[in-house]
Amino acid sequence: MKDNRPVAFDPPTAYNTSMQTVEPISISMDSRRPLLEVAPDDLAAWLRERGQAPLRTRQLQRWIFDGRAVSFDQMSDLPKRLRDELAASFRLLGSDIARHLVSSDGTHKLLLRLRDGQVVECVLLREADRRTVCISTQVGCGMGCVFCASGIGGVVRNLTGGEILEQMLHARRLLPLDERLTHLVVMGMGEPLANFDALLEALAIASSPRGLGIGARHITVSTVGLPNRMRQFADLGKQYHLAVSLHAPNDELRNRIVPTNDKTGLAAILDAADYFQTKTGRQVTYEYVLLRDLNDLPPHAGELTKLLRGRQAHVNLIPFNDVEGLPYRRLTQQALEDFVAILRSGGVSAKVRKRKGADIDAACGQLRRAALTASELISVQGV
Ligand code: SF4
Repeated sequence: MKDNRPVAFDPPTAYNTSMQTVEPISISMDSRRPLLEVAPDDLAAWLRERGQAPLRTRQLQRWIFDGRAVSFDQMSDLPKRLRDELAASFRLLGSDIARHLVSSDGTHKLLLRLRDGQVVECVLLREADRRTVCISTQVGCGMGCVFCASGIGGVVRNLTGGEILEQMLHARRLLPLDERLTHLVVMGMGEPLANFDALLEALAIASSPRGLGIGARHITVSTVGLPNRMRQFADLGKQYHLAVSLHAPNDELRNRIVPTNDKTGLAAILDAADYFQTKTGRQVTYEYVLLRDLNDLPPHAGELTKLLRGRQAHVNLIPFNDVEGLPYRRLTQQALEDFVAILRSGGVSAKVRKRKGADIDAACGQLRRAALTASELISVQGV
């Protein structure tokens, strides 16, 4: 009997892994819609108009999500004519890889070029049996956190659900065939909850057994704190994990580090985080980027302890690493150890996040910024 299951394709070997070269980025003049941006009902109608059975939709999904197909031509269990019609009407993926860097610790960073020539970053981390992809949800970011390269220049636009999902597909293609993505963190460029509908659309497919099959409990969404959205996120009834980027233990300091805080305030954010914890039963993680002499001093650790003590909270401490053009500096090892000790002695669970991909600018937004400032952008081809 003929085996019609999709065949997985080898990870590509032709990606550019150079950390030096800067190639021109071109805008695609291809007007075909990427398949992941076509609503399931529209695709079903398109197939019906061509006399195709509904099962074709499932076949297409299997080729994309199980089979790692990169062209319609590879979908050998679809009739040749249908493959040709699909290729004439749609692109399989709307984005492609503009840059691919590999760190000495095995971290991969991709700079993806979108259909309109904008670029976003995603990162693949390989640790023990975890394969984690970190994705972006916006081009740029409107939150303006002072230490972050992604926020410089503000937000350009939201990503579509398909563009969010495609980052996972590109990252997954870097894995050997016997490995799959096990974890997803939405901590790249952009404020995920400011692009709520597209985010949920992408997460639904990422966590579906018919999609990428990443367990909802292994999906973490990180926010600077949009209280209404945090509550809506809690109300979904999903097992997604929530991380709140705090970075300061009081409003006065947080207003300086996360400018949007002056409209929301810590109290409303913590209330919404408590609501999430009560509603879902899931512990909330608080992210805290440590900036030398700004928010890394013992009184800050003491205040943070008071703020979080008694809450079901875990703190991820992230020592800042220098970003060209920004005035902040990494804290000393002693200051880091003191900060951790104060939190722990106050009964707050805390961990220092290991830095991955240090040699490839893996911190959020740095690669995109390097590309933008290298002034190679943007040449239009095919006009
Ligand atoms: S840290 Fe996150 S929320 Fe803040 S500016 Fe950067 S991408 Fe936006």
